[in-house]
Amino acid sequence: MKAALTQPATAAAGAQWIDTHSHLDAAEFDPDRDQVLHSARAAGVALLVLPAVAARHFERVRALAHAHGLAYALGIHPLYTPAATDADLAQLQQALKRWRDDPRLVAVGEIGLDFFVPGLDVARQQRFYNAQLALARDAGLPVILHVRRSADALLAGLRRCRVAGGIAHAFNGSRQQADAFVELGFALGFGGAMTFERALQIRRLAAQLPEHSLVLETDAPDIPPQWLYRSAEERAAGLTARNTPAELPRIAETLAALRGWSLPQTAAQTTANALRVLPRLRAQ
Ligand SMILES: [Zn+2]
Repeated sequence: MKAALTQPATAAAGAQWIDTHSHLDAAEFDPDRDQVLHSARAAGVALLVLPAVAARHFERVRALAHAHGLAYALGIHPLYTPAATDADLAQLQQALKRWRDDPRLVAVGEIGLDFFVPGLDVARQQRFYNAQLALARDAGLPVILHVRRSADALLAGLRRCRVAGGIAHAFNGSRQQADAFVELGFALGFGGAMTFERALQIRRLAAQLPEHSLVLETDAPDIPPQWLYRSAEERAAGLTARNTPAELPRIAETLAALRGWSLPQTAAQTTANALRVLPRLRAQ
């Protein structure tokens, strides 16, 4: 794995990719998880980062990472804060301590703030976000951030509690907010949303941000790319639009086209960026 990651640019056919955000533990993959992973590897996705979303998933993402040679992150997702408790924060603290020397544990995440989904208690989200930032800082780990209409509040938290950088995943903010994350040691995650021609702001960012600030991700099974999109009617009729990590190289073609890069160059640059912001990936 290490050799493959250090020689990503030898040929387009041999390009090696890192999916920096893949929920392989999700129930959507229960029927065929091994096949999904096999397809990803066959497509050249050498490594996946599996972020946890709740304390009850911690053992699961860790076991998956160890069984399949992947990386994982531990955290409580903002959409899971309504059901989360202080005991879950204590469990995160214990897990970070217990697995401190596990090279596959690469970050605290997925944590953050979601100001888009209605009905979430903002103060409660903030409390879990701040507490997890402090745990990441104390563990010396980067963080994987969920950003939805919340970039400024997330940045304020990062300025109060200096963590070792990380990734602002599925980034969809302004250029100014992007620059602020980069200044704090973050890369910005781009995935399926970038493949929609109407996603003008995301495509502009992908095209124009400094080359060292971009990483690729699928967020599988979510955020399907344009070619997997299903309308509300199609979904009502039972068609699904499950995203998988094997889509990453095709998603990367969009980034390559937006930047005027070759595919090997896109693989090499985004891989180098991922290894910089999640340094423990180098040990995989
Ligand atoms: Zn996610």
